[in-house]
Amino acid sequence: MAEEHYEVRVDRKKCIGAGFCEKLMPQLFKVDEAGKATLKGVVAVNGNTVSLSVGEGGLKDSVMAAKVCPTYAIAVTNRATGKNVLDIEPEKHIEVRNIKAHYDSMNEWSMDPLGFFTIKPFPDEGVIRVRHYNAKHQLTALIEGKNAEEIYVTICREGLISILSHAAYLGSELQKAEIAMKKRLNYVQDDPLSL
Ligand code: SF4
Repeated sequence: MAEEHYEVRVDRKKCIGAGFCEKLMPQLFKVDEAGKATLKGVVAVNGNTVSLSVGEGGLKDSVMAAKVCPTYAIAVTNRATGKNVLDIEPEKHIEVRNIKAHYDSMNEWSMDPLGFFTIKPFPDEGVIRVRHYNAKHQLTALIEGKNAEEIYVTICREGLISILSHAAYLGSELQKAEIAMKKRLNYVQDDPLSL
């Protein structure tokens, strides 16, 4: 058995039950009936805190979960030194920039050199189908999925997109398509959803 040099703790008072830890690492975390995260396995309970000793594998998984927790409810420490192993410092204040959003589509839009996508939801089948065309307008891939997230993650994993703003556009269009599919609304790519 791997040596358990690390301790994962969940402060249930800080937890808002957002469930990101469970979604990312279901083998370690679970949101219980109280709507708070807890740990799986031989868990020690101390007031509002639950903790678990883990080895190197658990360390990697718990650090990833801790990094997505919006309320910093997850802590990971080295059991021998008691030191925090996370490289996040939420309490340390750094300069914050105030940014007013703006977008000049005429000058800022640029074509993704990898091409473009068309999106169509199929409510009766419960799927969204996406076509990818390269810059020469040749069909290169047909992607089918049940929700926006699995489709955009797949598209990124397959290397079909190369511009951040294009990925953001694709995510928002896929989310619209998913809503349209679930609520049986008419979906027209690039048009607002009519509710
Ligand atoms: S990600 Fe954080 S806030 Fe969300 S359930 Fe897990 S511990 Fe709680």
